[in-house]
Amino acid sequence: MPSKPAASATTVASARPAGATPTLYIDGSWAAADGGATFEATSPATGAVIGTLAQGGRVDASRAIEAAARSAPAWGGTSPFERAAALERIAAAIDARRDELAGILTLDQGKPLQAEAYGEVEELVLYFRMAAADATRIEGLIPPSVDPAKRVLVYRVPKGVVGIVTPWNWPYTMPAELIAPALAAGNAVVWNPARFTSWCSVALAEAIVEGGLPAGVFNLVTGPGDEVGDEIVGDPRVTAVGFVGSATTGAKIARRAAGKELLLELGGNGPLVILDDADLEAAVRATITACFLNAGQSCTAGERVLVDRAIHDAYLDLLVETVKREVRLGDPADGATTMGPLNNERTAAKTERQVGEAVERGATLLSGGRRAPELGSPLFFQPTVLDRITESMEIAKEETFGPVVPISAIDGEAEALEVIERSPYGLLTSVFTRDLARGLRFAESARAGWVNINEGTNYWESHLPFGGRAGSQSGLGRVGGRFSIERLTELKTIVVNLA
Ligand code: NAD
Repeated sequence: MPSKPAASATTVASARPAGATPTLYIDGSWAAADGGATFEATSPATGAVIGTLAQGGRVDASRAIEAAARSAPAWGGTSPFERAAALERIAAAIDARRDELAGILTLDQGKPLQAEAYGEVEELVLYFRMAAADATRIEGLIPPSVDPAKRVLVYRVPKGVVGIVTPWNWPYTMPAELIAPALAAGNAVVWNPARFTSWCSVALAEAIVEGGLPAGVFNLVTGPGDEVGDEIVGDPRVTAVGFVGSATTGAKIARRAAGKELLLELGGNGPLVILDDADLEAAVRATITACFLNAGQSCTAGERVLVDRAIHDAYLDLLVETVKREVRLGDPADGATTMGPLNNERTAAKTERQVGEAVERGATLLSGGRRAPELGSPLFFQPTVLDRITESMEIAKEETFGPVVPISAIDGEAEALEVIERSPYGLLTSVFTRDLARGLRFAESARAGWVNINEGTNYWESHLPFGGRAGSQSGLGRVGGRFSIERLTELKTIVVNLA
C-alpha cells in the first residue's frame, strides 16, 4: 500500500561523479558510454527534459559482462550470510532515499507520487530484505547412494553471470525481483533497464552501489535494448537471463539466449470475471484498481472484464458512477491525483488505436475514450469504460496497457473459462463470487499461472510464485522469493567413494 513520505528520510549523497552522463556502472565505477553517446530522459507529464544519460552500446555491455564474469566466482564463494548483509545494506540505502526515489519515479515514469510511487519504493525495500533472508536459506541435499561405500552431496550453486533486461512500467520492483535474488544466490549481474525509465534505474543503482558490493558484481548499462540487451542475452559468458517485458521481445530473447537458463515474465491479458452472485461493490472497487492502477500499465492489469449478464447493468451503472467520482487524472506530483499520464507515446497510441477500433466495431463508450493533452502533455489518457466488447476486437485479444475497462457480458462461469482458454496469454485472472467453493472450482479450472478469488487482478505478493502458465505467451518460470532463487541457481552433484 502507498505510504506517506517518512519525515526523517534523508537523501544520501551519490557516489556517482558530478555531471549527468556517467550513468553506466561497470566494474565498480561510474562511466560514460564508449564514444560518449547520450540520450535525454523526459517527463511524461510535461514533456520536459529531466536529465541526460549515457547511451551505452555493445562495447559497454561487453565490458560489463567481462567484469561480471571476473567477479562471479569470488562472489559465489562468499558466505550467504555475507551476501545477506550486503542486501540488507542495499535495503537500508533504498529506505533512506525513499523521498528521492519516489520523486524520481513520478518524474520519470509518471505514476502519482502519493497514491502509488511511495508504494513501489516500499515494495522495493521489501524485495532486498526478502532476498537477504532467502540467501541464508539456500540448501543442498544429501540423497542416498545405491552403493553403501558412496556418499552423495548435492550443492545448490550460483549460475554465474545473470543478464537482466527490464521494462518501464514498474522501474524499481521489476528489476528488483530479479537483481535481488540473483545477488542473494551468489551471481554477478549485468542489467539493461528500459530506456523510458533509465533515470529511475540510475537512482536505484546508486542505492545498490551504496550497499558496498565487490567491484564487478553489479553492473548497469543504460542504452537501447536491441543493442545493449541483445548483446547481454547473446553473450556466452552470460549463463542465465532474467527478462521482464513484452511477449514479442521475450520470444526474440528466448531465441537469442537459447541454451541458457531463462526466466521470462511477459505480458498478460487476464480477465476479471464477475459471476452472478458477486458482491458488486467489491467487484467495482477491484475493477478500478485492476484497470487504473499505474494507468493500466501492468502485466497484471484487468485487461478485460467478463460480467454475468444477470448483473451486467447494475455493475455497469455502479462502475461508471464510481469512475467518474473517484478516478482523478492529473499532475502526478499533486497529492490529490490518483492516475497520472501514460509513460510513452507508443503506449498512448496503442491505447487510442484499440479504443477507436472497438468503438468503430460496435463497442459502447460509457466514459472517457480520448487523450487529455490539456493536462500538460499528450500522454494523459482519460479513464475509459467500454461495453459490448467482442472477442474479435484487438482490445480483447491483446494487452491494452492503458486506463481502459473493456467489458463483455457472459452467461456463467463455463463461458468465462472458455474465453480464458482461447487466449494465447495465461498470466493471471480474478473471479468474484460469494460462493467460495464455486470460486475455488473456477480457479482450479482457469488456465492461468495465478488466480485471485474476490480480489482484483493486481494483487500479488512478492515472495509467492508468479509467472505465466506453461505453453502460453506469458512467460517461462516463476519469480518470487525462493522460487526466483531456485531458477537462478543450479544443482551440482558430488559423489565421494569411501572404499
Ligand atoms: P518491451 O518488450 O518493449 O521491452 C522490455 C525491455 O526489453 C526493455 O528494456 C527494452 O529495452 C528491452 N529490449 C527491447 N528489444 C530487445 C532485444 N531485441 N533484446 C533484448 N532486450 C530488448 O516491453 P515494455 O514495453 O518495456 O514493457 C511492457 C511489457 O512488459 C508488457 O507486455 C507487460 O505485460 C510486460 N510485463 C510483464 C511483467 C510480468 O511479471 N509478467 C511485469 C511487468 C511488465
